[in-house]
Amino acid sequence: MRGFFDSQDFDFTCPNCKRHVKTPVSKVKRSDFKCPYCGGKFETSQFSRKIDEANREIERFKQQLGNIKIEIKL
Ligand SMILES: [Zn+2]
Repeated sequence: MRGFFDSQDFDFTCPNCKRHVKTPVSKVKRSDFKCPYCGGKFETSQFSRKIDEANREIERFKQQLGNIKIEIKL
């Protein structure tokens, strides 16, 4: 599933090499994601689940916004 947060950049410090990593969320969600500097592997399934939950929340929010009717009184 691709959603709003997949195209955002994710910043974190690699626990192995302590370097600053900035990479799109969609890449971090992949189960074969590795640190681009040291090649360290991470457990990302929980991260991926949380992102998908957040994506669903955003979709719900967008629908709610679309349902709001604005009344203009002159
Ligand atoms: Zn690293």
